[in-house]
Formats: sequence, structure tokens, C-alpha cells
Amino acid sequence: MTTDFNLNELVRDNVKAMKPYSSARDEFKAIDGAQVFLDANENPFENGLNRYPDPQQGQLKAALSKLKNIAVEHILLGNGSDEVLDLIFRAFCEPNKDNIISVPPTYGMYGVLANLNAIENREIPLDPDFELDLDNISRATSTHTKLIFICAPNNPTANTFAPNAIENLLKTFNGIVVIDEAYIDFSKHKSWTSRLEDFPNLIVTQTLSKAYGMAGIRLGICYASAEIIAILNKIKPPYNINELTQQKALERLSHPEKVTEEIQKILKQRTWLISKLKQNTIIETVYPSDANFVLAKVDDANKRYDQLITQGIVVRNRSNQPGCENCLRFTVGTQFENIKLVKALEDIAVI
Ligand SMILES: *Cc1c(COP(=O)(O)O)cnc(C)c1O
Repeated sequence: MTTDFNLNELVRDNVKAMKPYSSARDEFKAIDGAQVFLDANENPFENGLNRYPDPQQGQLKAALSKLKNIAVEHILLGNGSDEVLDLIFRAFCEPNKDNIISVPPTYGMYGVLANLNAIENREIPLDPDFELDLDNISRATSTHTKLIFICAPNNPTANTFAPNAIENLLKTFNGIVVIDEAYIDFSKHKSWTSRLEDFPNLIVTQTLSKAYGMAGIRLGICYASAEIIAILNKIKPPYNINELTQQKALERLSHPEKVTEEIQKILKQRTWLISKLKQNTIIETVYPSDANFVLAKVDDANKRYDQLITQGIVVRNRSNQPGCENCLRFTVGTQFENIKLVKALEDIAVI
């Protein structure tokens, strides 16, 4: 366990001092007994959405709690994981004073949010195998380093870092380790949510945007100690998860077997796509994938990207990311889509 972890010392002073906005729905909680709601200046004519949504998303959190086997007080929901990540910055990082560590090539939002919040982003590149460089991370850490962002499986490299290396960070870093598990449902590794009891400095984020097929509703999930969740809860916008999102998420979570079935199909397609990409002459390296996308090094990424566009196929050009020279990222689609991609790549290879 981390020896000197002190959550109270990490929280910004203004966050510690502030009182949260108290909404009408917060002040009156015994909703079951009440019949007449004249407290929130809502339009009284029922249309299914005329009332403010539950600010604590009780039903949705209960469903998630059951599905993931994690108590409700360890869960916070956000308008996408992007909002959750922003709340984490705002709770712990003092503008123009604190810093964070990120490990490129990785998800771009950590750097964007650091800039937005006037926080220095200390970038420690992954090693050539796309693994964590623990020595340099440790060297870059100062007393003002509040957060380390680890994306596992990592976007865009598609690998999951060695669990021992992540555990090492959790054990030695006195700030908070944020593990972004947007792609965990495609991974052979198990979620770090099972280690929340072991590490008071652990935050895990997940999302309904990828495996759950609900990118359009914007629902991000944060799992952490009850103490961390209470801090984030205090600063979140009161009604950050709208009613339609809560309803649609509940619907989706009530059929986990459908999600599992789709994940299995995607994983099967991933295997097929990787085998085909490996046979293509314009592709030099196909990196192993623990996610629903595949990173591949091609002969000329800009040229191949443009050629795919002319065939109506949009992929992600990651070639300007450190360590990803000439790399394209392919999301695993349906069988039909993947066949089209493979055919297009075969066509452009012989032009
Ligand atoms: C797609 C993605 C997310 C999802 O963000 P949402 O705001 O929940 O849609 C988060 N982290 C990573 C690394 C991603 O690639």
C-alpha cells in the first residue's frame, strides 16, 4: 500500500472550502411519499421529461452497482468520461501550480484538460514496446504532481501495460493514479476496480461509449474510494446526467447479454482483421490489440489515409503522435465494414 497517501492534502483548498449547490431535488429526498412538486419551477404539465432528473442517478447507479459488484458510494457518473476526467482535474489540480503526468502516445484529452485547467502536463513517452517507463515517470514526479493518467488498454497503441508496472505506480506514487478503462470490455485483463480496496489513490474510469454501444448518450463512470467520490460529487454540476441518458443507460444495462454478444462478435472480427492486415504488403507492422481497434504501421500513412478516404473509408491517422510514425488506427467494424476495409487496402496496395 502507498505509505504517505493523504487525500486531504491533495484536494484544492477552494474545493475543500466550498459548499455545493443544493438543488430542489437534493433538498427534498423523500420523493416516494410526495404528491405535489412545487419546488423547482418546473412546468407542471406531464410529458415524461418536464421534471428535473435525479441528481444522484439512484436507479442507474443501483443497476451498475449490481452489474459490476461495486457499492454505490464508490460510483460517480459523468457526461461522458470526459466530464469525469475534468472533475478530477478541478478537484485536485491547482492552476499554474500543480502538474500531471501522461504517457504518450495516449488519449489526447488528458493533455487538453491539462491545458484548459492551466496545469503542466509532464509527458513521459512509452518505451519502444509501448510499455510504461517507470524510471522516467518517477524522475518526473514532484511534490506538485497530483495525477498520473494511465489508459489501459491504451488508445491508440491498443496494448495494456504490464499489470506489475501499474501496480508499482499505485504503490509508490503519493498522488492519484487514474486508470482509464474505456476499452476494458475488449481486454483479456481484468478491471482494476477489483483493487479499489487495496489502493486509496486509485481512480478507475469507464464509459458506455465503446463496448456498450452508447456513445450518443454520453455516460462516463468513475470508480474510486468513497472519500474521492464524495469530493467529486460535491463539485459536479447538479443535473449532469440528463433524464434521457439515465433511461437509455438503464435499458442497455438491463440486457448485459446483448452487450456480451456484440463484444464477442467484435473480438472475432478483430482476429480476422489482424490476420488480413498482416498479409497486406503496404502494412509493415500490425500491433497486438487488447481493444476494439488495431494500430498498424504502413509505408506512407498520409498517402494511404487519403486513398482510403477516396474509397469512402475513414480511419484515424495517428502518424503525428510520438512513437506512431506512419501509423493508422482501424476501428473494428461489422464483418461487412471490415471486408470493405481489407478489400480497399488490397486495391490500393497494387495501384
Ligand atoms: C473513447 C475514449 C473515452 C470515452 O470518452 P467518453 O467521454 O466517455 O465518450 C475515454 N477514454 C479513452 C481513452 C477513449 O478512447
